[in-house]
Amino acid sequence: MNPLEHKKIAVIGCGTIGSHLSKFIAQTGAGTGTGTLTLIDNQSLSAANIGRHLLGIEYMGQNKAIALSHEIKRHLPDVNVRAISDDAWRSVRQLDLYDLVIDATGEESLSISINEYFIDRRFNDSPTPAVLHIWLSGRGDAAQMLLVHSKEFACYKCLSPDFGGTERYSPLLSDYNPKGIPAACGDSAYMPYGVGSPAIAAGLANVAVVDWATSNGRPHLRTIPINSRTTKNIGDGNPKRNERCPACGKR
Ligand SMILES: [Zn+2]
Repeated sequence: MNPLEHKKIAVIGCGTIGSHLSKFIAQTGAGTGTGTLTLIDNQSLSAANIGRHLLGIEYMGQNKAIALSHEIKRHLPDVNVRAISDDAWRSVRQLDLYDLVIDATGEESLSISINEYFIDRRFNDSPTPAVLHIWLSGRGDAAQMLLVHSKEFACYKCLSPDFGGTERYSPLLSDYNPKGIPAACGDSAYMPYGVGSPAIAAGLANVAVVDWATSNGRPHLRTIPINSRTTKNIGDGNPKRNERCPACGKR
C-alpha cells in the first residue's frame, strides 16, 4: 500500500526540517502515480547549513529547493518532484488545489501568513489543502506540529491568539528562556542544536502525513519533547478553535 500515491503535496521551506522531511515523504510514496511533490525555497545552501541539512557540500551555493529535488531524484528516480526557487509568500498562491501543504519554514511570522491565507480560503468555502505546520521550540528542545484541515479545530494562530501573549501549548518550561546566539556571518539568530532535533521533527511530521492520508489525521497537535531539562510533556490532542483567534475566531 502506498498512502501518498496520487497526492499533490508541497513542502514550503527546504531548510533543516524541510530537507529531511521531503526525503522521508518521498520514501513514503509522495510524487508517485499522478501525484507530485513540490519543494519551495528561495534561499541557497550555505556553509552554516551543512551540519544539520540533508544536503552536503556538493550543493553549496545552489538553491535549496532545486538541489533537494536533485538529491531526491538521485535516491528515487521515479518520484515526480519539482522545485520552485521563489519566495514562499508568492508561491503559496499556486497551491490552492493541492491535497496537502507542509509549512516547514520554521519562521513564526511566515507560518502566520500561510495560515491566514488558507484559513480565508477554507472559511470562504474555496478549495483548500490540508496544512501541516511543523516547527522546533526553543533551541531544538522540542518538536511540535499542527494539522489544520477543518473549520472545527484549531488553526495555527489559535495556539497563540493574543498579541505578545504566551503559547497555549508550549512544551517549554515557563522559567526557560532560550535565546539565539547572534551570528557573526549575517544570518539571523543561530540556534545551537545538532541534526537530531530537525530529524526528529521531520520524523514526527512524516508519521502525521501518513495518518492524514490514511485516516482522520488525529491527533492534530503532536509534540515530542527532546530536551528533558527544558520541556514538559503536554500530551497530544485535537484543540478546538479559539474564539479570540484573529484568523478564525470570529467566523
Ligand atoms: Zn484560529
